[in-house]
Amino acid sequence: VSKKNTVKPKPRFLRVNTLRTTTESVIEDLNKTHTVEKDDLVPDMLVLPPGTDLHNHHLVMDGKVFLQGKASCMVAVTLCPKPGWKVIDACAAPGNKTVHLAALMNGEGSIIACELNKERAKTLQHTIRKSGANNIETINGDFLDVNNNDPSYAEVRAILLDPSCSGSGISTERLDHLLPSHSRGDQDDAGTSSRIRKLSAFQKKALSHALSFPSVERVVYSTCSIHQAENEDVVNSVLPLASSLGFELATPFPQWRRRGLPVFEGSEHLLRTDPEDGLEGFFIALFVRKSAVDAAKP
Ligand code: SAM
Repeated sequence: VSKKNTVKPKPRFLRVNTLRTTTESVIEDLNKTHTVEKDDLVPDMLVLPPGTDLHNHHLVMDGKVFLQGKASCMVAVTLCPKPGWKVIDACAAPGNKTVHLAALMNGEGSIIACELNKERAKTLQHTIRKSGANNIETINGDFLDVNNNDPSYAEVRAILLDPSCSGSGISTERLDHLLPSHSRGDQDDAGTSSRIRKLSAFQKKALSHALSFPSVERVVYSTCSIHQAENEDVVNSVLPLASSLGFELATPFPQWRRRGLPVFEGSEHLLRTDPEDGLEGFFIALFVRKSAVDAAKP
């Protein structure tokens, strides 16, 4: 059976922006014209048949729902920030996960959203305005320059790091990988692997930096890549640092069956999604500081 035959058509996923409306009222509205169900895993996520086009729907235009994939939404849910926390979204634009964090926090507490690229930082601002969130401060700069010793970051309890990656898990790129190399356009294999090496080097630096904030209890690392070099290898490379700072890997969505590639002890904690699950190819790792786990115990 070829890989192609096992890829399911993807349903259309919607995330309800609970800062602006409720899941029940969106269902009532959409039910007039569409078949809609609640997702069984991700709260406030709705599932519609493959091919449903809602780009011009008033709920989308008004920012009451976001056309955000399920795997993408699993990232902020994994971070699980509590209302009132101070949180950093390290590589934030276009901001889908930033505003999801704001919704999970009921708009209470504060989010610092950092984005290096000037144009993309404008898109981030636009997404934030559309969401109605008013607890997000943006920084147009390099996350690696955000000083973890600055007193203004002393109370940061959670960091979401979704850095630039090859994007090889998203559908069009994924299909590109099934093509013979001579028909892939300008990227040859050597070019691809040198690009992935560079991305991976940045991803390791950024993840080490995120783990080094003094009060951070939860760090999520995610990509939309299928490459081990950007996923398991990045996590594996920071494990000595993580452990010296008191972090351990935790298991996001324990009921989810597709876990990390078995390339190091503990990779079963990691989460992968795949087109075979009817989703895009994403990767999620969750680091939790042991002192925070112990404090939560009765
Ligand atoms: N989390 C976003 C979302 O769900 O909408 C997607 C983030 S995208 C995968 C990665 C972003 O990181 C890009 O917008 C890129 O410009 C930005 N970026 C890359 N290097 C960065 C750095 N050193 N500091 C801050 N942002 C960076």
